Amino acid sequence: MAKSAGEKIGRGFSPPDPARVKAVLAGLAKLYPKAACALDFKTPWELLVATILSAQCTDQRVNQVTPGLFEKYPTVADFARANLSALEEAVRSTGFFRNKAKAIKGAAQAIVENHHGQVPGRLEELVKLPGVGRKTANVVLGDAFGVPGITVDTHVGRVCRRLELTDQTDAVKAEFALMEIIPQKRWTSFSHQVITHGRQVCHSRKPACPGCGLLNNCPFGQMHVTDQD
Ligand code: SF4
Repeated sequence: MAKSAGEKIGRGFSPPDPARVKAVLAGLAKLYPKAACALDFKTPWELLVATILSAQCTDQRVNQVTPGLFEKYPTVADFARANLSALEEAVRSTGFFRNKAKAIKGAAQAIVENHHGQVPGRLEELVKLPGVGRKTANVVLGDAFGVPGITVDTHVGRVCRRLELTDQTDAVKAEFALMEIIPQKRWTSFSHQVITHGRQVCHSRKPACPGCGLLNNCPFGQMHVTDQD
């Protein structure tokens, strides 16, 4: 295995061969047929909150925090009028708790004021909410509204660059590039499958290329796996 697990930089990038993209999609579907959102939620609002809390935090930790949080603040309006210090305390264990509490309260206020207390189901509206970027919006759209979306988090960006599905390091540019080559109906499942693959196999520092189910269609893996692996 190469000493660096970084991605290819510095040579020209050509859009991937559609047959290889198809093979990668088939491989992902075979490896992770049940890949799904790991955050617990019952409503779009609960998923929005959980997704905001999941930044720089594990999904398991978020799932430990949210039941008590939604018991304390049962409705969007309860979050909107929450005491900020109390809300900070309630989400403290997820890290970056001041920013997260501020974003959640701000989003709740905007939803109460502009959307009759209902989380909007359109990307253009979601990204106007405080603390909500395209990544969070796509998670909510895909998993709470059934609207296909590609979520480019750190795993998706890294794995897709290694697979040479894109060379973009900017999350939004990568999302648009992937939308060009992945069938729309696969956007949400593709995101879940790649996130799972990034967590379980294609690790940031030491991707487990020799045993990877995508190796045959992965330029990075082909380049770095040696006879000794
Ligand atoms: S072969 Fe698999 S683990 Fe290795 S870089 Fe490619 S996708 Fe990641």
